[in-house]
Amino acid sequence: MDVTLQADRATHGETESVDMMKAVAVFPGKPGSMHLTTMPRPRLEDVPGGRGVLVKVLRVGVDGTDKEINAAEYGAAPPGDDFLVTGHESFGVVEAIGPAVTGLQPGDYVVATVRRPGSSLYDRIGTYDMTTDDTYYERGINLRHGYLTQYYVDDPEYIVKVPAGLRHVGVLLEPLTVVEKGIAQAYEIQRRLRVWRPRKAAVMGAGTVGLLATLVLRLQGIEVTTFGLKPAPYLNSTLIEALGARYATTVDVPVREAGAAFGPFDLVFEATGSSAVAFDSMLALGKNGVLVLSSVTGGQRSVTIPGDRINLEFVLGNKVMVGTVNANREYFETGVQHMAMAEAQYAGWLSRLLTHRVDGLENHAQLIDLLQTAKDAVKVYCEIAQDPATTRAIGG
Ligand code: BGC
Ligand code: ZN
Repeated sequence: MDVTLQADRATHGETESVDMMKAVAVFPGKPGSMHLTTMPRPRLEDVPGGRGVLVKVLRVGVDGTDKEINAAEYGAAPPGDDFLVTGHESFGVVEAIGPAVTGLQPGDYVVATVRRPGSSLYDRIGTYDMTTDDTYYERGINLRHGYLTQYYVDDPEYIVKVPAGLRHVGVLLEPLTVVEKGIAQAYEIQRRLRVWRPRKAAVMGAGTVGLLATLVLRLQGIEVTTFGLKPAPYLNSTLIEALGARYATTVDVPVREAGAAFGPFDLVFEATGSSAVAFDSMLALGKNGVLVLSSVTGGQRSVTIPGDRINLEFVLGNKVMVGTVNANREYFETGVQHMAMAEAQYAGWLSRLLTHRVDGLENHAQLIDLLQTAKDAVKVYCEIAQDPATTRAIGG
């Protein structure tokens, strides 16, 4: 059921009736401030030029970034507001489109990108994930409201269609795009080698990003070893093995020795959240290899590293290391293709990542709670509204 509250907004002395909607927000800078609020429902006209797309949010996933935002370690409110609507991993259905919108129709399933352009040259050519501006805008994270709400409106440039056959796993698209970008960047960089046929890859970290990186690398036919902390078997190690990849624990094989044990690795994808592992990964990389760093390490940690050895091996081995964050539209589109391939090749695998569902925005506290305490959690997500197609099917 759609609860639409009414409120009056005073405009120039007159009162105009505004549809209200629920949203989950934090007060950035105030730890543990996640709360349910109401705010005006966005309108198609909020986007100029008839380009508005109104999306009804069905599901939103949460991750470590949301945990950090709630802990006041990260995140900022949009200018003029003291709160930030959280949630950046969205999935929804188009409800209405402005007259200038082509390529999207009411009823289409969609996922919205997260970053919004700033002013650098990279932003202006659609590669806003590569901005050189100091300030970056990310919906649900930094200076722009997110998707843990009932509706959002945006320009079609930032809204990517998901085929109906993937709607059960569509909420995984945003985390997948982070992986897509990292791996695409690696291939792009390795064009320097004229011929690069990666045979072996290592993924550091067996969390959601590590699992999705393992998937994408396996879809390219690469032999993958994924490293985690926990001893096998447990859900994530089982999921990794279901892709025909190897799971190894760093207790048995320290990251620094990973190359000697299972390499040489042509590609290493680091997604543990630990800077110590990031540096150890430099020692795991093979000759001519590329190391992709994706951990957002917000802390102040210092690590001791064998500097001469790392440097020497990088120089003598022509190695490359690249940092990667966020994703632009292009990677969302590739992500959709890989999801379809995944369903064809490893049917049902993606659904197994959706481990913990929380029903309704009201229960937002459970989202953070599960992120902190659920030992077997891969993806925790909020079911905000029922998929209209499912509702129709059961005659509701
Ligand atoms: C999000 C990215 C974002 C990054 C840094 C991640 O959790 O998935 O889209 O760029 O945080 O804010
Ligand atoms: Zn994220």
